[in-house]
Amino acid sequence: MTPQGARKPLIAGNWKMYGRTASLSEIAALKAAIGEASERIDVLICPPAAYVQSAAAQAKGLGILIGAQDCSAVADDGARTGEVSAAMLADAGARYVIVGHSERRSQHGESDGLVRRKAEAVAAAGLIPIVCVGETLAERTGGRFADVISAQVRDSVPGQCANFVIAYEPVWCIGGDRTPTMEEIGETHALIRATLAQRLQGQAEQVRILYGGAVSPKNAAEIFRVVGVDGALVGRASLKADDFSAIILAHPAAT
Ligand code: PEP
Repeated sequence: MTPQGARKPLIAGNWKMYGRTASLSEIAALKAAIGEASERIDVLICPPAAYVQSAAAQAKGLGILIGAQDCSAVADDGARTGEVSAAMLADAGARYVIVGHSERRSQHGESDGLVRRKAEAVAAAGLIPIVCVGETLAERTGGRFADVISAQVRDSVPGQCANFVIAYEPVWCIGGDRTPTMEEIGETHALIRATLAQRLQGQAEQVRILYGGAVSPKNAAEIFRVVGVDGALVGRASLKADDFSAIILAHPAAT
C-alpha cells in the first residue's frame, strides 16, 4: 500500500481556450511566487495546444511542468486534419495530457470509450494522462452519482498501465463558485480509489486523484486537507500567477 503522503501532490492548471503569447510570462511569475514548493509538488500548466511548445521553452529549468488539454485517440501519424497526436505533444515538451474533461464530453460528445483510447494514446507516447470524471447535478441529487462515477472510472482509464492521474471534477462545480462538501469530496475520492483497486489491486494506491471544480485561493487549504485528495485541477484560478501560486502555497507540502 502506498500511503497518501507517498504520492507526490500534483496541482495542475487548465488554461482552456484562454491566453496569448504574452500570457506565458505568468510561468516565470508563478515560479517566482512559489519558489522551491515546485520541488515537493508537481506543478503543471496546460495551455492551449498552440502554446505548448513556447510554454515548455519558458518553463525550462524552472521545475514547472507543461501539459496539454486534449489529443487525438490515434497514435500514428496520418490524414487527420486538425488533430494533434500525443507524440506531437511529447515532441513539443508536454509531460501530461488531460483527457475526458467534461467540456470535451459535453461539447464534443466524447464517450468513455473514446476517452480511454485517448488515455492509451497518451500513455503510448510516454506521457501521463489525466483522466477526468464527474457527475452532473441531476446525477448527484438523484443519488446516481456513485454508479456514474464508478462506470466512468472503469471505462475511461487506460487498460494496460497504472501510470495515470484521475481528476474528479463534478460538472456542476466547474466554472461556478460552489464545491461539494468536504465529506462528499472525501467519499467520492474513496469511491474512485476502490473502483481502481478492482482493476489494479495494490497499484491503485499509486494513482493520484485530484479534485477539480471552483478551486480558489479561499477554499484550497480546506480541500487539500481532505483524506485521499492528492492535489487539484484548476481552471480559472490558474490563469494568473497570483491566484495559482496562492493555491499551490495552500498545500501542506508547499512549506
Ligand atoms: C476545469 O475546467 O477543469 C475547472 C476545474 O474549472 P474551474 O476551476 O474554473 O471551476
